[in-house]
Amino acid sequence: MAYLFDSFEGWKKYSLEKKCTLADTVLEYEREQKGRNISEVNEGLMRAWTVMKEAVRTGLEEDMTSRSGMVNNGAKKVFRHPVTVLSPEFQKLISRALAAKEVNSCMGRVVAAPTAGASGIMPGVLYTLQEIHHIDDKKIIEAMMVAAGIAIIIEQKASIAGAVGGCQAETGTAAAMGAGSIVYCLGGNIDQVFNSVAITIQCMLGLVCDPVAGLVEIPCVVRNASAAAIANSSAQIALADVSSVIPVDEVVEAMGEIGSSMETRYKETALGGLAATKTGQSIAKRVLIRDIEVLPDEG
Ligand code: SF4
Repeated sequence: MAYLFDSFEGWKKYSLEKKCTLADTVLEYEREQKGRNISEVNEGLMRAWTVMKEAVRTGLEEDMTSRSGMVNNGAKKVFRHPVTVLSPEFQKLISRALAAKEVNSCMGRVVAAPTAGASGIMPGVLYTLQEIHHIDDKKIIEAMMVAAGIAIIIEQKASIAGAVGGCQAETGTAAAMGAGSIVYCLGGNIDQVFNSVAITIQCMLGLVCDPVAGLVEIPCVVRNASAAAIANSSAQIALADVSSVIPVDEVVEAMGEIGSSMETRYKETALGGLAATKTGQSIAKRVLIRDIEVLPDEG
């Protein structure tokens, strides 16, 4: 049944024919392709969910200063700030996505969903979704299965790695996973789930991968927050049956086309974009000099 995850259209057709949910089809795929039983898959996802929640809490409670100093407890500052731009929920969403990603930048434990660079998006989205809508862990686990299906298709049709397709592939995929999870948990139908994926990717197309000093910190951390926000706005749009117009499979193909025509300097090489700015270059030099200074004396 690998063909199922070649396209969103195939996934939808299969689910409708078999009268099963999107989550069930992913579970079936895991069983068939990886030889795992239901409880193994569920336990693995529950462990991942626990790590995601711990990453959020760690990022909001412990010192999050990275070796480079570029990440410096931003999540806590956002969480505690007295001015609320939109709503307390939005403030929490943003600070949680930042928090889990800061844990990654500070070498803590996270879940790569789908990559470490994008590891704050799903925790921020799911944590906040569960809190606001009182969604039980079982449903969250199902949503994670749906998110996995979304990532499998994007990986096949485009890419989920910044080094291959730019940041659109990495944070864009995580945001699409987050949007699909929200719509699934809030009772959206298959079209609405896939529409949320399409809308999310439409919002993130063309985003380059340009990490300063080659460290997954700037702009990665703030992009996790903005991607979490886009996941929510796309879910809100898709739940109202507003169409993406361009079908999701075609949107993902566009992402692949943009990724393959993107210049190498925008693919995690730290040669273009923010990494190539005057400040970016001077940070890179400082980080390099410090690393050389701490090298062990070979004499
Ligand atoms: S800028 Fe590059 S390294 Fe950073 S999150 Fe995006 S894809 Fe990952």
